[in-house]
Formats: sequence, structure tokens, C-alpha cells
Amino acid sequence: MSTVALEPTAETDAVADLAVPVVGSLSPSRAGDFMTCPLLFRYRTIDRLPQAPSSAAVRGTLVHAVLERLFDLPAGQRSPEAAAALLAPEWARLAEAEPEVTGLFADEAELAAWLVSARGLLDGYFTLENPNWLEPAEREAFVEVVLPGGLRLRGIVDRIDVAPSGDVRVVDYKTGRAPGEMFEGKALFQMKFYALVLWRTRGVIPKRLQLMYLGDREVLAYSPDEDDLLATERKLLALWEAIERATQARDFRPKPSRLCDWCDHKAAGSEGGCPEFGGTVLPWPTVVPGPGASEQRHLDARDRSAPSVAAPLPAVSEAPSQE
Ligand code: SF4
Repeated sequence: MSTVALEPTAETDAVADLAVPVVGSLSPSRAGDFMTCPLLFRYRTIDRLPQAPSSAAVRGTLVHAVLERLFDLPAGQRSPEAAAALLAPEWARLAEAEPEVTGLFADEAELAAWLVSARGLLDGYFTLENPNWLEPAEREAFVEVVLPGGLRLRGIVDRIDVAPSGDVRVVDYKTGRAPGEMFEGKALFQMKFYALVLWRTRGVIPKRLQLMYLGDREVLAYSPDEDDLLATERKLLALWEAIERATQARDFRPKPSRLCDWCDHKAAGSEGGCPEFGGTVLPWPTVVPGPGASEQRHLDARDRSAPSVAAPLPAVSEAPSQE
């Protein structure tokens, strides 16, 4: 294996099991990028081109922040109105941390309409469960494991619930559209990724994986077993091998799909453009990110916008089938 490392963050390097040399890292979003389009993966992970924020992705970040804060309130006070009241302060916090997001709105009226749409998503959440009846064990939980071969898997789980029986439920909020029946397996890939990491680090297979689509007011749930998680592990290892081969060959090809409509590179011309749409691929970078490279965690907000949810199956021919 070569030592191309993807997605480490400075603050989490200390969490890794240093007994195993880390040869690379994958998160669900980065794995999804490669499965969706190898060129997209290259631009985001190897060239590290900045990705323009979108109002949908930022709304996802905002709604997630509110739902995390909601559980700071005591049970009995977690109401739609209380959640709505958290929108303004969480937006202020987000805008202070990332001032560029304020440029997404032409004027106050546009911002106000966007906040109303975020309120609609929060209202959708309350139709799916009653937060007064549960106490999350963990929120925005960073999970990480280094597999024996040195591939590090990492991600941030929106919520982990633990029942008195010890049963674990992994919950992820989605602000994009729910997948059609044919794409449910792809949507659950991210959850199986988290389940695998939890199993490998805590020795417990989560009883239930639950995706909550706030806009469509739908829940997609699945109960994984050991075979599922072993298959997920094999798939990720095969995916990593494919990424390594592509890196060594410097060959990350575009893979057009309907997701191109959400891709920053579709109209990027010569600055990291896509040849499928008349653009020019950047020259291979002189420095490929190594194990010590850093990346901001908030980029995982991409997982919360619509396009990545319904990402197609892996293009990696040797990847075992997940379903
Ligand atoms: S526009 Fe489509 S094919 Fe081109 S890089 Fe983006 S996702 Fe890939």
C-alpha cells in the first residue's frame, strides 16, 4: 500500500490507535465522493479545492446544530417552539464562525425565508419522534477506528441512543430528500459505516440504524448483523485499494450522473473543471496530502445535503455487493 492519507484532522489524530501505522483515512462522505465520481473525490480530497457553501448544506448544518442543542433542554421542554427559538442564536454562531455563509443571501428577506424553511425541517423532526421521551447517550459523536491493515475509518454520528437493555441505536438526521426504494441501500451505507466503527471500537453491533428525513418526514431504519458489517468492511477495503490504484496512476475519471447538477466543478472551466462539461482537469498536484494534513470537520456537512444521500453504487468493480 502507498501512504496517501485522506481526511485526518489535527484534533483527532491523538484518538487513532497508533499501534497500527495509518496508511489512509476514509469518512462516509469521502467514500461516497469516490463512489459518486472519482474526479470529484480527487478535487475535494487530493487537490483540496475549496467547496462553495450552498444554502441547502448550510441549512443542514444549522438544523443539526439546533437538534443537538435541543437536548440541552430538560425533557418536557423540547418543543417545536423551543427548537425554533434556537434557530436565531445558532445561525448567529454559525455566521460568526463562517462569515462567508452570510453571502448566500441577497438580503434580509431571503435570509428570513431560508430560516422559515429551516423551521419547517425542525417541525418535520417533531412529527417523527418525541424528543422528550429520550435522552441521547451521545450527540455529534466522533467515532474512529484503524483497521488492521492501517485504513482509518472516521466520522461524526449525529446521535447515539443506548436503551436500558444496552441496545444501541445510531441516528442520523437528513435535511435532503428521502431516497427512493431502489436507493435505500446506498443511503444506509453511511450508517453501516458508523455501525462498523462502533462494533470494532466498542464490541457492540448497533441494534438499529435510523435515518430521519426531516423534509419528507420519513424514517429509514435497518438492523444490521455481523455479516452486514463484515461486508461493509470488505467494501471499504476494496474501495481504498481502488483509490490507491487511482492515486498511483493519477487517474481519477469523471463519472457523470444526475448529481453533476450539484457539483461545483461542472462550471469551473479551467480552475478545477470537469471535462464532461468542457472544463479542464487541473495538473496533478506537486504535493499529495499526507497523514498529518488537516481538514475542517464541518465539511462533513455535505452529508446532510440532498445529492450525496442518493449517491449511486460504487464504481469499484471488485467491491463486494453491500445489499
Ligand atoms: S460534474 Fe459530474 S462528472 Fe464532473 S466532476 Fe462533478 S460529479 Fe464528476
